[in-house]
Amino acid sequence: MDRFSRDDRSAVMARVGSEDSAPELAVRRELHRRGLRYSLHRKDLPGKPDVVFRNAQTVLFIHGCFWHLHSCKRGRLPKSNRRFWRKKLEANRERDARQIRLLRGAGWKVIVIWTCRVSTKLGLTRACDRVEAVVRQRRRLPVANGHSISATAMTNASSDYRGPNHCGAEERSC
Ligand SMILES: [Zn+2]
Repeated sequence: MDRFSRDDRSAVMARVGSEDSAPELAVRRELHRRGLRYSLHRKDLPGKPDVVFRNAQTVLFIHGCFWHLHSCKRGRLPKSNRRFWRKKLEANRERDARQIRLLRGAGWKVIVIWTCRVSTKLGLTRACDRVEAVVRQRRRLPVANGHSISATAMTNASSDYRGPNHCGAEERSC
């Protein structure tokens, strides 16, 4: 017997197919195109952040909605084996929160990008505007190639993204 119901399995497959590839790569490509340079998955930092801007002391997590229990429809618990999934996914969420606390405690700016938010070109642009604004501000670098950063992006950079289920605890900007 298959361990997963069809719903569960498609959620797992969605993870395999997307979280570590398409959305993360799209974000990285766009940031690189804007002239930002970074390192990846640094093991010496809590949570092995997906993207690290060391000079700006800023890290980026690109979170898959299912595995990190986002408040969107992709972050819902599967209908079957609910207890199993609740325990597992809530543990993931608590671990995320712990790692973010550690990073912030050490002076890092932490930005979480949910994969559902970057699934459109517009969403990707907005998310990258926000990251770029934070990184340039923290590095105090001039804006490159006449590419302007809107005031909205700057505002969103510090106030956007409440935590999963809008509890506000996990992604609060520092
Ligand atoms: Zn989501």
